[in-house]
Amino acid sequence: MKLTADQVSIALAGQSIVQGVTLDVESGEIVGLIGPNGSGKSTLLRAIYRMLRPTAGRIWLDDRDLWQLTARESAKRTGVVLQEMPASFELTVREVVQMGRTPHKGMLSLDSEKDVAIVAQALDRVKMLSFANQPYHTLSGGEKQRVAIARALAQQPKLLVLDEPTNHLDIYYQIELLTLVQSLGITSIVAIHDLNLAAQFCQRLYVMKAGRVVASGSTAEILTPELLAEVFQVRATCGFHPITNQLYVLYGSL
Ligand code: ADP
Ligand code: MG
Repeated sequence: MKLTADQVSIALAGQSIVQGVTLDVESGEIVGLIGPNGSGKSTLLRAIYRMLRPTAGRIWLDDRDLWQLTARESAKRTGVVLQEMPASFELTVREVVQMGRTPHKGMLSLDSEKDVAIVAQALDRVKMLSFANQPYHTLSGGEKQRVAIARALAQQPKLLVLDEPTNHLDIYYQIELLTLVQSLGITSIVAIHDLNLAAQFCQRLYVMKAGRVVASGSTAEILTPELLAEVFQVRATCGFHPITNQLYVLYGSL
């Protein structure tokens, strides 16, 4: 599924937070959203997963206007992974992932065999099936984020919205999580602070500053010393690994 935001503006408490943002994510692409704290990334993503209604502009999922869909139709299409998933203490891992089936079920209806199978598949996909009966709150940060992905997968989404999904994870789990997202092949938009991970896992980047998109392009076009100085006020050196040709960013310059 293709995501398009067309001139999206969002005001909160009378203040303009996002202004005239236009972006697109092609089917199967992973696109990164970078920018300083407070630049409006989370607010824009909230509009994309339909938590916030834009004050102007349109968001399209393929050729459907997001706000013409019902909440349920939109929840079937879009899975969300945040820094941390709030979940009640008593829930097991399986129960957390079952919540992903909600938009597919009738009111108060019990889990069908199909639902049970989809939940098991989602847990298996993130290698958490053996944790299914464990209380969610007892998991490590990396395990919790894998469960968050499993819950999103149980929705069978066509779009994944990830807002700093790797924030509380050590580097092993950061790479593991993004490798997992990459392996899914689902259209994904991810707000991410680590520019080296953005370089490694995203095909294109949009850069936000003060509520606007100030640059967009391939990772190599965006991750330049000039742009990082302008947007993040840091001195950086950008280069390509001599053997793997992987783009990297080092802070501090010659
Ligand atoms: P980012 O995710 O890039 O760090 P956010 O989208 O969280 O940025 O925030 C952008 C700006 O919007 C911040 O200045 C923040 O204080 C403001 N903001 C976020 N939510 C609200 C709200 N509910 N009411 C008023 N201002 C808000
Ligand atoms: Mg944010």
